[in-house]
Amino acid sequence: MYGDIVILSGAGISAESGIPTFRDSDGLWNNHRVEDVATIEAWYKNPAAVHAFYNQLKKDIADKQPNPAHLAITRLQREYKNGAVNVVTQNVDLLHEKAGNTNVWHIHGQIDQAVCMRCGRVLPAAGDMDEKAVCPSCGVAGKIKPNIVFFGENLLYMDKVEALLARCRLFVSVGTSGAVFPANTFARTAKYHGAETVEFNVGETVNRYDFDRHVTGPAGTTLPAFVDELLKERTEEADIVGDR
Ligand code: NAD
Repeated sequence: MYGDIVILSGAGISAESGIPTFRDSDGLWNNHRVEDVATIEAWYKNPAAVHAFYNQLKKDIADKQPNPAHLAITRLQREYKNGAVNVVTQNVDLLHEKAGNTNVWHIHGQIDQAVCMRCGRVLPAAGDMDEKAVCPSCGVAGKIKPNIVFFGENLLYMDKVEALLARCRLFVSVGTSGAVFPANTFARTAKYHGAETVEFNVGETVNRYDFDRHVTGPAGTTLPAFVDELLKERTEEADIVGDR
């Protein structure tokens, strides 16, 4: 296979690392209702509670390690020579980075960052944050929010993502339910531009008709096998000298 590859990951890719998905937790995130901790209204209403939630989430996932699905992407990025491999993730955890993945686009934000809602500056946030913090860039207090995209906010890096979707020849979706807009439109966009689309999930997804191929099973098993197959195909293609 030749051409660029885009991998879209969702909470399911991190499930085997011990980070639960919404679905595995009855729609709760770390025992909290999404409306209380992941909407822009919740942030304006009770920023202290929102900070407390993300401070705890940061602690809970700090020691989690990448699983074979993340590591398969590292191998693909190292060994695939026929194009670029980009990772577009809905996850706020950093397991792609811990696995050594590069070109990772956190469209829903990331747990180790904050953003000033006044001046827009993105800041490192390795430790605890609170609602009184002063922005080092604009000097205003009380406007620093976790750099997590809440329902009601725009996704990050969308121009980049649109360009990647238009160029890729293979679109791979891993561990995402297809229920969250607009990530659930990416497969259709890539397909419209001519890409082959493949999804990896333990169950059925909402947007399954946008995929040419479905691989059912835990991503920690199915994705490494797929990467082996893809890289083997590449080696076999390299053995062909050419046409007369
Ligand atoms: P989701 O919870 O709605 O869906 C997860 C999907 O993963 C499901 O379709 C499930 O069948 C599948 N799945 C579960 N275990 C799997 C496995 N071992 N292998 C393959 N697939 C598996 O998650 P979502 O669609 O990603 O959307 C929820 C949003 O919540 C995300 O966009 C993210 O912002 C946030 N979230 C992030 C994390 C994280 O950072 N790890 C965890 C929970 C929620």
